[in-house]
Amino acid sequence: MSLVAGKNIVVMGVANDRSIAWAIAQSLAAQGARLVFTYENERVEERVRKLAGTIEGASILPCNVTDDADIDRLAENLREQFGVLHGIVHSIAFARTEELEGMFVNTSRDGFALAHDISAYSLVAVAQKLYPLMTEGGSVMTMTYLGAERALKNYNVMGVAKAALEASVRYLANDLGQFNIRVNAISAGPIRTLAAKGIKDFNSILKTVEEKAPLRRTTEAAEVGDTALFLMSNLSRGITGEVIYVDSGYHIIGV
Ligand code: NAD
Repeated sequence: MSLVAGKNIVVMGVANDRSIAWAIAQSLAAQGARLVFTYENERVEERVRKLAGTIEGASILPCNVTDDADIDRLAENLREQFGVLHGIVHSIAFARTEELEGMFVNTSRDGFALAHDISAYSLVAVAQKLYPLMTEGGSVMTMTYLGAERALKNYNVMGVAKAALEASVRYLANDLGQFNIRVNAISAGPIRTLAAKGIKDFNSILKTVEEKAPLRRTTEAAEVGDTALFLMSNLSRGITGEVIYVDSGYHIIGV
């Protein structure tokens, strides 16, 4: 069974081969999806081009999500390349390193705005410009973290941005359901990636998960990839506006 054969899916957020978006792309490619990768800037372009080159039929397009003109161009390019779009994988977030340590109360106005712009509003902006291409229905997914609901040490403004992201998932799901477009999030356990490097004491977070999570192990990017595949496929056709946890069960415990 090829779960996403013939589906055109844009994958946003590959920076390197450790990116969660890359693991998602692996799962989707193995089940027959046609992929377009977007990259943030020239700094990562070559790496993304190389990675995309390992997947048959995949291509790359630029898109810095802080720039509306970039998102417009992406929509235009996807219209030309695909005509119809079936899936959007949004795996993008950013906050300044100095806002990811110490007390949340010290968050600056522009640091707060920047984190929300890139990590939450970008999902709305991308959905706004791309949903008209989803004329056969579709699936949109994004990546979130437990820090959206709990005050976690050093996650600070990113947790607040993730709360906005999760609320945006619900509002977008409610808007776009009438077009048979579903919108969901995966809340992943901690995974060692470039973005995770910005979070202070990340190793001790991993250790706690290993000790306390019901499955007694940390999350593998491939586990997120396979859940993303489920969300992009027809198997999840009844699910929208949801946050699905792929975290070895860590969020259920009371410690
Ligand atoms: P990553 O650094 O590999 O990916 C983050 C991506 O965001 C990069 O590709 C980067 O280029 C992109 N990005 C940042 N600013 C951008 C902009 N202005 N325009 C376009 N792209 C931009 O790290 P990751 O861990 O794979 O992160 C992917 C997503 O998963 C993020 O939303 C992150 O918050 C979320 N997440 C990560 C973890 C974890 O532990 N790694 C856990 C839960 C959720």
